[in-house]
Amino acid sequence: MSPDSRKIRLIMDLRRAGVSDLRVLQAMERLPREAFTPDGFRDQAYEDTALPIACRQTMTAPIAVGLMTQALEIGERMRVLEIGTGSGYHTAVLARLCRRVYTVERHRDLLAEAEQRFARLTLSNITTRAGDGTLGWREQAPFERICVTAAAKDVPPILAEQLAVGGLMVVPVDHGPREQRLLRVRRTEQGLETDDLGEMRFVPLVPATVRRSDMAS
Ligand code: SAH
Repeated sequence: MSPDSRKIRLIMDLRRAGVSDLRVLQAMERLPREAFTPDGFRDQAYEDTALPIACRQTMTAPIAVGLMTQALEIGERMRVLEIGTGSGYHTAVLARLCRRVYTVERHRDLLAEAEQRFARLTLSNITTRAGDGTLGWREQAPFERICVTAAAKDVPPILAEQLAVGGLMVVPVDHGPREQRLLRVRRTEQGLETDDLGEMRFVPLVPATVRRSDMAS
Protein backbone atom coordinates (compact mmCIF):
# COMPACT_ATOMS: atom_id res chain seq x y z
CA MET A 1 0.00 0.00 0.00
CA SER A 2 1.37 3.47 -0.89
CA PRO A 3 1.91 6.07 1.86
CA ASP A 4 -0.96 8.11 0.42
CA SER A 5 -3.47 5.28 0.62
CA ARG A 6 -2.24 4.41 4.12
CA LYS A 7 -2.86 8.01 5.08
CA ILE A 8 -6.39 7.95 3.62
CA ARG A 9 -7.09 4.77 5.57
CA LEU A 10 -5.89 6.45 8.77
CA ILE A 11 -8.17 9.44 8.16
CA MET A 12 -11.08 7.01 7.78
CA ASP A 13 -10.04 5.29 11.02
CA LEU A 14 -9.89 8.67 12.76
CA ARG A 15 -13.43 9.48 11.62
CA ARG A 16 -14.66 6.08 12.76
CA ALA A 17 -13.08 6.65 16.18
CA GLY A 18 -15.07 9.87 16.55
CA VAL A 19 -12.77 12.56 15.20
CA SER A 20 -15.14 14.71 13.18
CA ASP A 21 -13.55 18.17 13.51
CA LEU A 22 -12.52 19.03 9.97
CA ARG A 23 -9.66 21.29 11.04
CA VAL A 24 -8.14 18.44 13.06
CA LEU A 25 -8.62 15.92 10.24
CA GLN A 26 -7.14 18.34 7.71
CA ALA A 27 -4.11 19.11 9.88
CA MET A 28 -3.43 15.39 10.29
CA GLU A 29 -3.98 14.71 6.61
CA ARG A 30 -1.50 17.39 5.59
CA LEU A 31 1.29 16.61 8.04
CA PRO A 32 3.75 13.89 7.03
CA ARG A 33 3.74 11.66 10.12
CA GLU A 34 6.64 9.69 8.64
CA ALA A 35 8.84 12.76 9.22
CA PHE A 36 8.40 12.16 12.96
CA THR A 37 8.65 8.36 13.22
CA PRO A 38 11.96 6.73 14.19
CA ASP A 39 14.11 4.99 11.59
CA GLY A 40 12.91 1.46 11.03
CA PHE A 41 9.28 2.37 11.77
CA ARG A 42 8.51 4.60 8.77
CA ASP A 43 6.24 1.96 7.25
CA GLN A 44 4.09 2.15 10.38
CA ALA A 45 3.69 5.93 10.29
CA TYR A 46 0.02 5.66 9.33
CA GLU A 47 -0.90 2.72 11.55
CA ASP A 48 -2.86 3.50 14.68
CA THR A 49 -0.08 2.45 16.96
CA ALA A 50 2.22 4.06 19.49
CA LEU A 51 5.84 3.82 18.33
CA PRO A 52 9.04 3.68 20.38
CA ILE A 53 11.24 6.80 20.23
CA ALA A 54 14.56 7.60 21.92
CA CYS A 55 14.95 7.91 25.72
CA ARG A 56 12.52 4.98 26.26
CA GLN A 57 9.53 7.15 25.38
CA THR A 58 6.73 6.57 22.87
CA MET A 59 5.12 8.56 20.13
CA THR A 60 1.38 8.75 20.82
CA ALA A 61 -0.85 6.70 18.48
CA PRO A 62 -2.58 8.94 15.92
CA ILE A 63 -6.18 8.29 16.99
CA ALA A 64 -5.29 9.41 20.53
CA VAL A 65 -3.65 12.53 19.05
CA GLY A 66 -6.82 13.22 17.04
CA LEU A 67 -9.19 12.70 19.97
CA MET A 68 -7.09 14.75 22.40
CA THR A 69 -6.73 17.58 19.91
CA GLN A 70 -10.42 17.60 19.04
CA ALA A 71 -11.34 17.70 22.75
CA LEU A 72 -9.27 20.87 23.10
CA GLU A 73 -11.51 22.80 20.64
CA ILE A 74 -8.58 24.92 19.51
CA GLY A 75 -9.18 28.29 17.88
CA GLU A 76 -6.71 29.81 15.45
CA ARG A 77 -5.89 32.80 17.70
CA MET A 78 -5.10 30.66 20.77
CA ARG A 79 -1.82 30.01 22.56
CA VAL A 80 -1.39 26.38 23.58
CA LEU A 81 0.96 24.83 26.13
CA GLU A 82 2.03 21.24 25.46
CA ILE A 83 3.80 19.12 28.07
CA GLY A 84 5.88 16.27 26.60
CA THR A 85 7.13 17.18 23.10
CA GLY A 86 8.42 13.66 22.41
CA SER A 87 8.71 13.18 18.64
CA GLY A 88 7.06 16.55 18.03
CA TYR A 89 4.21 15.10 15.95
CA HIS A 90 1.41 16.19 18.29
CA THR A 91 3.11 19.58 18.67
CA ALA A 92 3.02 19.98 14.88
CA VAL A 93 -0.70 19.09 14.73
CA LEU A 94 -1.43 21.68 17.44
CA ALA A 95 0.74 24.26 15.66
CA ARG A 96 -1.37 23.92 12.51
CA LEU A 97 -4.48 24.85 14.50
CA CYS A 98 -3.48 27.73 16.76
CA ARG A 99 -1.40 30.89 16.93
CA ARG A 100 1.54 29.51 18.90
CA VAL A 101 2.48 26.31 20.75
CA TYR A 102 4.78 26.41 23.77
CA THR A 103 6.12 22.90 24.29
CA VAL A 104 8.18 21.52 27.18
CA GLU A 105 10.19 18.26 27.11
CA ARG A 106 12.46 16.91 29.84
CA HIS A 107 14.73 14.96 27.46
CA ARG A 108 17.01 17.35 25.61
CA ASP A 109 17.85 14.77 22.95
CA LEU A 110 14.21 14.31 22.02
CA LEU A 111 13.70 18.05 21.97
CA ALA A 112 16.69 18.61 19.68
CA GLU A 113 15.35 16.07 17.17
CA ALA A 114 11.86 17.53 17.32
CA GLU A 115 13.26 21.04 16.74
CA GLN A 116 15.01 19.83 13.59
CA ARG A 117 11.73 18.41 12.30
CA PHE A 118 9.89 21.67 12.99
CA ALA A 119 12.57 23.57 11.07
CA ARG A 120 12.47 21.15 8.14
CA LEU A 121 8.68 21.48 7.90
CA THR A 122 8.94 25.28 8.40
CA LEU A 123 6.65 25.19 11.41
CA SER A 124 7.61 28.57 12.79
CA ASN A 125 4.97 29.06 15.50
CA ILE A 126 6.46 26.63 18.02
CA THR A 127 8.53 27.71 21.03
CA THR A 128 10.39 24.93 22.82
CA ARG A 129 11.91 24.51 26.26
CA ALA A 130 13.86 21.69 27.90
CA GLY A 131 12.76 21.18 31.47
CA ASP A 132 10.12 19.96 33.86
CA GLY A 133 6.70 20.42 32.35
CA THR A 134 4.86 19.88 35.63
CA LEU A 135 5.98 23.43 36.40
CA GLY A 136 4.32 24.73 33.23
CA TRP A 137 5.68 27.91 31.64
CA ARG A 138 5.09 30.70 34.11
CA GLU A 139 6.39 33.57 31.97
CA GLN A 140 3.92 32.79 29.18
CA ALA A 141 0.87 31.89 31.32
CA PRO A 142 -2.08 31.95 31.24
CA PHE A 143 -2.79 29.57 28.35
CA GLU A 144 -6.14 29.10 26.66
CA ARG A 145 -5.38 25.44 26.08
CA ILE A 146 -3.00 22.90 27.70
CA CYS A 147 -2.23 19.46 26.28
CA VAL A 148 -0.42 16.99 28.56
CA THR A 149 0.88 14.00 26.60
CA ALA A 150 2.12 11.85 29.52
CA ALA A 151 0.08 10.32 32.34
CA ALA A 152 -0.05 12.21 35.64
CA LYS A 153 -1.03 10.89 39.08
CA ASP A 154 -3.60 13.66 39.26
CA VAL A 155 -4.41 16.90 37.44
CA PRO A 156 -1.12 18.82 37.87
CA PRO A 157 -2.04 21.78 40.10
CA ILE A 158 0.49 24.23 38.65
CA LEU A 159 -0.81 23.55 35.14
CA ALA A 160 -4.40 24.12 36.33
CA GLU A 161 -3.24 27.48 37.74
CA GLN A 162 -1.69 28.41 34.40
CA LEU A 163 -4.93 27.73 32.55
CA ALA A 164 -6.90 30.86 31.61
CA VAL A 165 -10.44 31.19 32.96
CA GLY A 166 -12.61 29.54 30.29
CA GLY A 167 -9.59 27.48 29.18
CA LEU A 168 -9.37 23.73 28.58
CA MET A 169 -6.70 21.16 29.43
CA VAL A 170 -6.54 17.52 28.40
CA VAL A 171 -4.50 15.27 30.65
CA PRO A 172 -4.27 11.49 31.03
CA VAL A 173 -4.54 10.61 34.72
CA ASP A 174 -3.82 7.30 36.49
CA HIS A 175 -6.92 5.41 37.57
CA GLY A 176 -5.81 2.43 39.62
CA PRO A 177 -2.59 0.52 38.92
CA ARG A 178 -3.13 -0.33 35.24
CA GLU A 179 -5.68 2.08 33.89
CA GLN A 180 -5.45 5.68 32.76
CA ARG A 181 -8.33 7.97 31.89
CA LEU A 182 -8.12 10.96 29.62
CA LEU A 183 -9.59 13.93 31.48
CA ARG A 184 -10.70 17.26 30.07
CA VAL A 185 -10.51 20.01 32.64
CA ARG A 186 -12.26 23.33 32.15
CA ARG A 187 -11.32 26.27 34.32
CA THR A 188 -14.32 28.41 35.24
CA GLU A 189 -14.69 31.41 37.55
CA GLN A 190 -15.81 28.93 40.23
CA GLY A 191 -13.02 26.38 39.85
CA LEU A 192 -12.30 23.29 37.76
CA GLU A 193 -14.87 21.15 35.93
CA THR A 194 -13.74 17.72 34.79
CA ASP A 195 -15.05 15.41 32.04
CA ASP A 196 -13.85 11.84 31.68
CA LEU A 197 -13.16 11.14 27.98
CA GLY A 198 -12.35 7.46 28.40
CA GLU A 199 -9.46 5.07 28.75
CA MET A 200 -6.09 5.70 27.05
CA ARG A 201 -2.51 4.58 27.62
CA PHE A 202 0.49 6.88 27.95
CA VAL A 203 4.03 6.89 29.30
CA PRO A 204 4.21 8.45 32.79
CA LEU A 205 4.56 12.17 33.42
CA VAL A 206 7.68 12.33 35.54
CA PRO A 207 6.86 14.30 38.68
CA ALA A 208 8.58 17.53 39.64
CA THR A 209 10.63 15.95 42.44
CA VAL A 210 12.93 14.13 39.98
CA ARG A 211 16.64 14.82 40.53
CA ARG A 212 18.63 16.47 37.74
CA SER A 213 20.94 13.46 37.66
CA ASP A 214 17.98 11.36 36.48
CA MET A 215 17.55 13.52 33.42
CA ALA A 216 19.07 12.63 30.10
CA SER A 217 21.70 15.17 29.12
N1 SAH B 1 3.21 13.80 22.00
C1 SAH B 1 4.43 13.04 22.04
C2 SAH B 1 4.33 12.12 23.23
C3 SAH B 1 5.62 11.65 23.74
S1 SAH B 1 5.46 10.64 25.17
C4 SAH B 1 4.58 12.25 20.75
O1 SAH B 1 3.56 11.87 20.18
O2 SAH B 1 5.69 12.01 20.31
C5 SAH B 1 5.42 11.80 26.47
C6 SAH B 1 6.61 12.70 26.60
O3 SAH B 1 6.50 13.40 27.84
C7 SAH B 1 7.95 11.99 26.63
O4 SAH B 1 8.76 12.48 25.61
C8 SAH B 1 8.52 12.33 28.02
O5 SAH B 1 9.92 12.49 28.04
C9 SAH B 1 7.79 13.62 28.34
N2 SAH B 1 7.70 13.94 29.76
C10 SAH B 1 7.40 13.11 30.79
N3 SAH B 1 7.39 13.78 31.96
C11 SAH B 1 7.73 15.07 31.66
C12 SAH B 1 7.89 16.25 32.43
N4 SAH B 1 7.74 16.26 33.76
N5 SAH B 1 8.23 17.39 31.79
C13 SAH B 1 8.41 17.41 30.46
N6 SAH B 1 8.26 16.33 29.66
C14 SAH B 1 7.92 15.17 30.25
